[in-house]
Amino acid sequence: MSKSRCFRKLSFTALFLLLLGFNTSIAQTSSDELSLMAIFAHPDDEMTIAPILSKYVNEGVKVYLVVCTDGRYGTNDFTDHEAGEGLVAIRKEEMQCAAEKLGVELIHLDYHDQLRAGEGYDGHVPHARQLIIDLEGIVADKNPDVLITWGPDGGSTHMDHRLVGASVTQVFLSQIWDKTKKLYYVGTPSHLIDEPERKKLAGIDSTYLNVGIKYSDKDAEKAMQSLKCHKSQVSPGMIQWREESSKKSNNTIFLREFAVPKKTKKSVFN
Ligand SMILES: [Zn+2]
Repeated sequence: MSKSRCFRKLSFTALFLLLLGFNTSIAQTSSDELSLMAIFAHPDDEMTIAPILSKYVNEGVKVYLVVCTDGRYGTNDFTDHEAGEGLVAIRKEEMQCAAEKLGVELIHLDYHDQLRAGEGYDGHVPHARQLIIDLEGIVADKNPDVLITWGPDGGSTHMDHRLVGASVTQVFLSQIWDKTKKLYYVGTPSHLIDEPERKKLAGIDSTYLNVGIKYSDKDAEKAMQSLKCHKSQVSPGMIQWREESSKKSNNTIFLREFAVPKKTKKSVFN
């Protein structure tokens, strides 16, 4: 091959690679096609990862927030709300306010708070089964790239949190999704929890939390504004606790990626 032909070939190769690289960089930097779906149990659970929801919205990612239950039992000693339909209506509005502050698309389902656990097996199990079916339909409809939900700790060990996390996991595992390839569980590193019992119930060893997403003070502020929408749920102490948690984690949300090794094995011991 002559020097000039070789050079020409190299030039074409370089041009091709350049174009390929250029396209790749577009694909990596443009968030047009990227979408994320966070799925939690109650109106206000989203506060756990609200700063990174704000961050991704600002980066142009389409963010869906699915809230499964109506929060009808969310009474406390700093408000005089009673459990029931009145509180459902209040929390629906509060959740809408919080979603607007974060800029996420809200899908608020009407499952009963506590998933009808008080009604025993015949009340609870059909309700919980239907939740999996509905979540499957939502994931199929919206096709998010990424799912984020509770891990086995459920953050606070609340049964609804843990059941929603398990339901989302079942939806993810039930098939190989065309687009939805990543599932993450939010978690608190054990070393950031002081209380020994809570460390056992809700702490995750940081080795397992393989994703740490930093957020800005602006995102923290936006998350705080959205948190304040939940007037029926948020005490001044809770706001202070959130602020301290942000500082403690150095403005980081920790996640554990659901991962399966590529190789199949024939023994549990190697
Ligand atoms: Zn909750």
